[in-house]
Amino acid sequence: MTPGGSTGDSNRHDSRSHPGTLKFLPEEFYEPFLSQSAKEKKPSPIRGLLHLESRPNVISLLAGKPNPTLFPITNVDISVKSPTDPSKESVLQISGSDLDEALQYGPTAGHPGLLKWLTGLQEHAHGRKAGEGWRINVGSGSQDVLYKAFVALVNDGDPVLIESPAYAGFISVLPTLHSEVIEVPTDANGIKASSLREILDNWPSSKPKPKILYTVPYGCNPTGMTATVERRREVLALAKEHNFLILEDDPYYYLYYGAMPRPPSYFTLETELSEVGRVLRFDSFSKIISSGIRIGFVSGPTKILDAVNLHTETSNLQVSSLTQVMTYTLLRSWGYDAFITHTEAVSEFYRKKCDVFEQAMVRQLGGLTSWTTPVSGMFFWFKLLLNSPDSPNAVTEDSETIIRTKALENGVLALPGTVFLPGGGKTAYVRASFSLLEAEGVEEALRRLKEVILEARAV
Ligand code: PMP
Repeated sequence: MTPGGSTGDSNRHDSRSHPGTLKFLPEEFYEPFLSQSAKEKKPSPIRGLLHLESRPNVISLLAGKPNPTLFPITNVDISVKSPTDPSKESVLQISGSDLDEALQYGPTAGHPGLLKWLTGLQEHAHGRKAGEGWRINVGSGSQDVLYKAFVALVNDGDPVLIESPAYAGFISVLPTLHSEVIEVPTDANGIKASSLREILDNWPSSKPKPKILYTVPYGCNPTGMTATVERRREVLALAKEHNFLILEDDPYYYLYYGAMPRPPSYFTLETELSEVGRVLRFDSFSKIISSGIRIGFVSGPTKILDAVNLHTETSNLQVSSLTQVMTYTLLRSWGYDAFITHTEAVSEFYRKKCDVFEQAMVRQLGGLTSWTTPVSGMFFWFKLLLNSPDSPNAVTEDSETIIRTKALENGVLALPGTVFLPGGGKTAYVRASFSLLEAEGVEEALRRLKEVILEARAV
């Protein structure tokens, strides 16, 4: 099926409110958003000219490309399950010109075939058409492009808006540039837009305002929350009013198993605004194809993605050509419909895992913990109710000692919520991942946790 065609499937959206009449922010708009280090980066004298090698009648003496006749690999076969019938396997062969591309250096932004496929996917899944002021860079996982986008946008000491609790892998990026952490509280419906408004409305006029807001809007890692469409709209309206960009980090988008219709992405919703171009969207194939293959991608304004590219030119040059070609070979053989069929099977798998986990929570930790059931992703975020009616002041509101020490001593490993607080502090919350364990493992882990909580409450 071609990009933009109709399938009626659950992962496709058409919430563009002004089709054909979108107004895009001009290139100059992004100039003040770029960091000093991004502005100072110079294009690589070689990588910047590589595309000219394909010009007719050009003989290239340009790049130090190794002679591929010396490469010992002559063929790569990948065996893959059918998305419609996982019992059926087929073999995809990477040979000929595909193999040549897989084994050689390639363009910084990504393999052209893969980029084209992904661009079509963004139209298919998010209603965003190619050539409308945005493009894509492939990254070694989404973490790679997330980090580079951060460095391209933030100057030393700049304030950064970050949802709280937040993905620990982004919290650890913040000290790189000594960012001032501005925590924006969340609840089960996503970012609390009223709190965000309060922060921004009371921002001291003497201080530069935050340029970016970081959020994981589907099946948030760690809280499991999925932001409602209303909250997303409110946050977008604030982005326009207070002039910041939204970093939409969405690796759990295709793991949604909640009620339909699903909330549209920020990347889709921003087309409702009078001006489009405030969203940088980060996708990942880690949870749906393979985490080891290290393929993620960022979709967003060309000017910012060019700055991300310059960073890549001076760090890892590009993502592995081999894994890009492997991914492209698989996706090309599937097409968009089969890709969506596959992601639906993935989300159904995690829905069942989530159900099993919750049922065990009720049996083992009912009354000892509280939680909101996630509708996407692979995490359960629950609060330890440590003060029993008999000993109301027994322990503080803190999961740190209980989870990091006591639970481990009792043979269960989970993460205390404290590691997800961007500004530090205490919390009684715990993050448990339910992606791998079978029912018996879940039951036993929670039983062990129950012993630890009961012991703490008995103090
Ligand atoms: N963002 C979030 C919220 C994540 O949970 C992860 C993976 N744990 C990443 C980004 C990084 O994913 P990738 O494997 O694509 O680099």
